[in-house]
Amino acid sequence: MTKPLTMVEIRGVHKSFGSLEVLQGIDLTIEKGSVTVILGPSGSGKSTLLRTINHLEKVDRGHVRVDGELIGYRQDGDRLYELHERHVLKQRAGIGFVFQTFNLFPHLTVLENVTEALLRRPRAEAKQRALDLLDRVGLADKAAAYPRQLSGGQQQRVAIARALALDPKLVLFDEPTSALDPELVGEVLDVMRDLARAGTTMIVVTHEIGFAREAADSIVFLDGGRILEHGPPAQVLDSPVHDRTRAFLSKVL
Ligand code: ADP
Ligand code: MG
Repeated sequence: MTKPLTMVEIRGVHKSFGSLEVLQGIDLTIEKGSVTVILGPSGSGKSTLLRTINHLEKVDRGHVRVDGELIGYRQDGDRLYELHERHVLKQRAGIGFVFQTFNLFPHLTVLENVTEALLRRPRAEAKQRALDLLDRVGLADKAAAYPRQLSGGQQQRVAIARALALDPKLVLFDEPTSALDPELVGEVLDVMRDLARAGTTMIVVTHEIGFAREAADSIVFLDGGRILEHGPPAQVLDSPVHDRTRAFLSKVL
């Protein structure tokens, strides 16, 4: 049984693309309300790991549970049955996802980009909720603007507001600041720090070591589809066990 304090349980997860085994047996437990930063070289499987958590990638072996619920499958005795797409969508609705490239709809206003996630709510309620979220990321005054009128940092903050629209149990971030000009990185990290302080359970793939050091409860170092390190920031960043971690950190620090 999953302990009630656990938000994400990843057990024995393997994933291959053709003959390339991208995840080679991942075990990871993430506590409710914690911030986990995933570090690792390009191609180490970071994005794939995030994507298995909401079943954007199907695992070949192992399983993922979020808040006790098996993702993508239904268990019946010893057998697993893949869930119907509409059940997967329901599970995904409880997990926010923020991408490197924002992925806003260019033909919708900022407000509409956020309310788009709230189509099932009464209109006035959806609008108020979206305005509250935009206020939270400091962009209430941009509600009527179109994405192209915003800076990259502002667009990413809208994307964060949208990811929060359905009150997710968990928010996944895949290199949320990697596409931004350096002077715009800080405003996005500030919003993420606020979320962390508010107790949002977050898993963040990033190379922003400063953010990792101050905001993360734990850091995972992924290399070649395996977790080489997992521990508090001071341990992983200052006293890593593996030479490969040291080599990686010497490049990004
Ligand atoms: P990271 O995010 O750490 O850079 P990824 O998880 O994106 O790594 O990718 C890990 C490896 O899997 C890379 O070699 C990548 O080319 C490969 N890969 C990722 N997605 C696919 C896919 N859909 N089809 C084939 N190969 C893929
Ligand atoms: Mg990636």
